[in-house]
Amino acid sequence: DELISQIAAGEVVERPASVVRELLDNALDAGATQITVRLSAGGVRLIAVEDDGAGIAPHEMPVALRRHATSKIASLAELEAVGTMGFRGEALAAVNSIAELSLLSRQAGEGGAWLLDGGTGELRAAARNPGTTVEVRELFFSVPARRKFLKSDATELAHCIEAVRRHALARPDVGFAIWHEGKLIEQWRAQAGADALDRRVADVLGDDFLAQSVALELRAGPVHVTGRAGVPDIARSRADQQFAYVNGRFVRDKVIVHAARAAYEDVLHGQRQPVYVLHIAIDPARVDVNVHPTKIEVRFRDGREVHQAVRHAIENALAAPRA
Ligand code: ADP
Ligand code: MG
Repeated sequence: DELISQIAAGEVVERPASVVRELLDNALDAGATQITVRLSAGGVRLIAVEDDGAGIAPHEMPVALRRHATSKIASLAELEAVGTMGFRGEALAAVNSIAELSLLSRQAGEGGAWLLDGGTGELRAAARNPGTTVEVRELFFSVPARRKFLKSDATELAHCIEAVRRHALARPDVGFAIWHEGKLIEQWRAQAGADALDRRVADVLGDDFLAQSVALELRAGPVHVTGRAGVPDIARSRADQQFAYVNGRFVRDKVIVHAARAAYEDVLHGQRQPVYVLHIAIDPARVDVNVHPTKIEVRFRDGREVHQAVRHAIENALAAPRA
């Protein structure tokens, strides 16, 4: 079972940033409003993710580390319309098999917290505000072949920050902080109101990104597209900044990439690479997120309807006269 878990871990965990992504998904699924990520040595030595979410009952803590243990879906029918970031019940078990993991959690309304050592299984009383802290130390310590493939701490740190950035652009209503070696390196306050995404975009991607992009919104049948697209004079260095989300999940998807490229081609005739933050809201039954263990790929039931909605949303925004 240990070996099976380690093999599964290979599919889910490539580097520290993969762990950060999974732990952030879990914190968001738990309803967190404030998430703090603490890293050491680019995340290789330590990744700790603290949230103020619902917490885990002590008797559920060992279950959370078991393979295919998920509290999020109870039936195949629910898998058809997944509303949470997680659902495979793999991440914690996988990470626990390749690192030293601990869970510290307190449920809202409970008097005390509990600490579970993922290595020994020891559970003991502890102290904490309501919410959960997952600590992951010495990633790949038992899998030296994989540890060897990690890049410099600075590179791994950059990937970790990118993972937080992706989540932060998905959820402007949640506050995020990143610490590295005890120093606060990024902090994005929770935003509310109609311009929450704009303010989050300015915080995460810079005031210049906000100034050099236009808002977009289009509703086409079951698809609702919102976000921002970079205008022609946006900095060249932004060329790789393409953030696409489907129902709040960061995705890399050919249909979306192609639609955006077509829109930029139509309006700007190849003068500009697409730059965007796109939020696509769609009936969960019209998209399959269980395509890949990392859930970064999705499959639309009707790719054309998504393609058209994205293309028109960007085209309209780019073609509209600007003040
Ligand atoms: P999944 O997210 O697919 O359910 P995970 O392995 O990521 O699987 O997590 C296993 C279970 O642990 C979750 O279903 C959830 O019940 C619990 N859990 C993990 N992280 C948290 C958290 N930060 N707050 C509350 N519960 C959590
Ligand atoms: Mg999860």
